[in-house]
Amino acid sequence: MPIKILPEEVASQIAAGEVVERPSSVVKELIENALDADADQITIQVREAGKRLIEIIDNGSGIPPEELELAVHRHATSKLDQAEDLFRVSTLGFRGEALASIGSVSQLTLSSRVSSEDLGGSIRVEGGEVLEAAELGIPPGTTVRVEHLFYNVPARLKFLKTDRTEKRHINSVVSRYSLANPAVRFKLYQDDELVFQTAGSGNLQETLSAVHGVKTAKQMVQVIYEDSTLRLGGFISPPGLTRSNRGEMLFFVNQRPVQDPALSKAVTQAYHTLIMKGRYPITVLFLDMPPDNVDVNVHPTKAEVRFKDKGEVFRGVGRGVRRALLAHTPVQEINHLRGVNLWGGPAPDHRYARRGVDPAWGVLGGEQEGLVFEQGVNSGQIPAPLGAPILRLIGQVAATYLVAEGPDGLYLIDQHAAHERILFEKMMAAREKSPPSQALLESAVVEFSPASADLLKECLPTLAGLGFEVEEFGPGSFVVRAVPSLMGESSPEAILRAAVEDLEVDETPLEGKIEEKIIARVCKRAAVKAGQVLSAEEGEKLLVDLESCQSPRTCPHGRPTMIHLSVDLLERKFGRTGPM
Ligand code: ADP
Ligand code: MG
Repeated sequence: MPIKILPEEVASQIAAGEVVERPSSVVKELIENALDADADQITIQVREAGKRLIEIIDNGSGIPPEELELAVHRHATSKLDQAEDLFRVSTLGFRGEALASIGSVSQLTLSSRVSSEDLGGSIRVEGGEVLEAAELGIPPGTTVRVEHLFYNVPARLKFLKTDRTEKRHINSVVSRYSLANPAVRFKLYQDDELVFQTAGSGNLQETLSAVHGVKTAKQMVQVIYEDSTLRLGGFISPPGLTRSNRGEMLFFVNQRPVQDPALSKAVTQAYHTLIMKGRYPITVLFLDMPPDNVDVNVHPTKAEVRFKDKGEVFRGVGRGVRRALLAHTPVQEINHLRGVNLWGGPAPDHRYARRGVDPAWGVLGGEQEGLVFEQGVNSGQIPAPLGAPILRLIGQVAATYLVAEGPDGLYLIDQHAAHERILFEKMMAAREKSPPSQALLESAVVEFSPASADLLKECLPTLAGLGFEVEEFGPGSFVVRAVPSLMGESSPEAILRAAVEDLEVDETPLEGKIEEKIIARVCKRAAVKAGQVLSAEEGEKLLVDLESCQSPRTCPHGRPTMIHLSVDLLERKFGRTGPM
């Protein structure tokens, strides 16, 4: 076939394909337009998952009647003048493509009135062609009505998923923009049913409640962080509140929702050792930075952005999130001293006596006011004289689990996971000082493959900092003269191998993370094993040590260290509810 320029109609349908993939893309573009027009009320009506109708009504600045036709013209925009403006875009739109694209694959009616005029105007576009224009009396603002989306591109229509899926996409677009704009009142109707609305009060937590429910919103942890290049704000879920995918990890760069796997990675890494592998936090994080530090023109629907200094941004995000999480931890810990169960559930009774029996179960062993710590008094440290541990050891099951009585019921503790957590925190704390190290009576020689040997060589300074004395002995072979005292009984060879094991599979360990990783691996190797019978003293020591951990609930790899059966649950299981 000879080369020829495509007819306008075909060209615009091709272009539309990039911007309008599915009904929710229409909703997204139209919401962005309303926000750019400074609307503070946006109502969205959807019928048949957006295939029949998408209508968006805003009370923004409006479009003068004589510009209506221009608005639906490709590359027509009021938001950009010259190419340089691209590098300081402060509006959500700037490409001048959305209305033209939507108009070329649907039947579109655009009605608008600017408040300075008495009358508004309206135009109707079908398959990209302007059919009619009219004058009409409407309130100030803009209404865009999109009917029969993809009526002229049946292939697109076929690619749509079930109505349920398309509706879900629409809901998530609306909730995302509502979170980014708490001062805007959003209403979403699906087939005449009001399915979502926000108050538009400007309070982000209120919007969070609308999106995630009050219970979740209440638990969210606030993030406030600032460095020379980045201001970070918003909310993240505490470690106990997670999801099985990244779908609820939302990021906004200068108010623009963006998807960036590296951003979610920075956040999940900040949760490292606090949540299980394969679980993800809920986040609503706002990154603010000078507009010229971020390029927003790299993606047709502007869902991705490019940062000038990516590394700097991700480090900032990681630091901000980590700080917020750590600042959040001591509160849990204090609660925990007051007798809250270790998952942060409700406090059964802060007078719970460690030596005595829970008041709910019998006699209280005297008032123990000394055990009550007000928030802020003990800024994170564990007070010294704690008396007997909060968990009372009852016994061991299957030489693997400890059984204990706690403030609110029964606890099963995985001895291996718990010991891992204890060793991990001790080593992490000790690495600042010079950790006690124990010379081996007989130094051990360990052989490694060339690749592992290279890795190990790189890690030697880190290992030395942890209390290892290891030296290269010949190609691929190393001599171990001392190990951290914490590692006491474990085989030096196993520990050394454990140190490099994980690093081999992960080619790009983050600096700083290497040490943590090594520590986690080493602790795994050194921890008591499942199947190992513990004496009562050993079991008790483990429980006391676990209590003083910052994150007693999970092992460094994120698995739970314990399971809790509350008194409540036991009562229900035994049919004991109600007075008897
Ligand atoms: P862009 O948003 O990239 O400029 P669009 O095709 O989405 O391109 O919109 C074209 C123009 O129409 C906008 O620049 C704006 O001037 C006008 N416009 C669109 N929607 C609205 C609205 N809801 N309120 C006011 N003006 C609007
Ligand atoms: Mg736009």
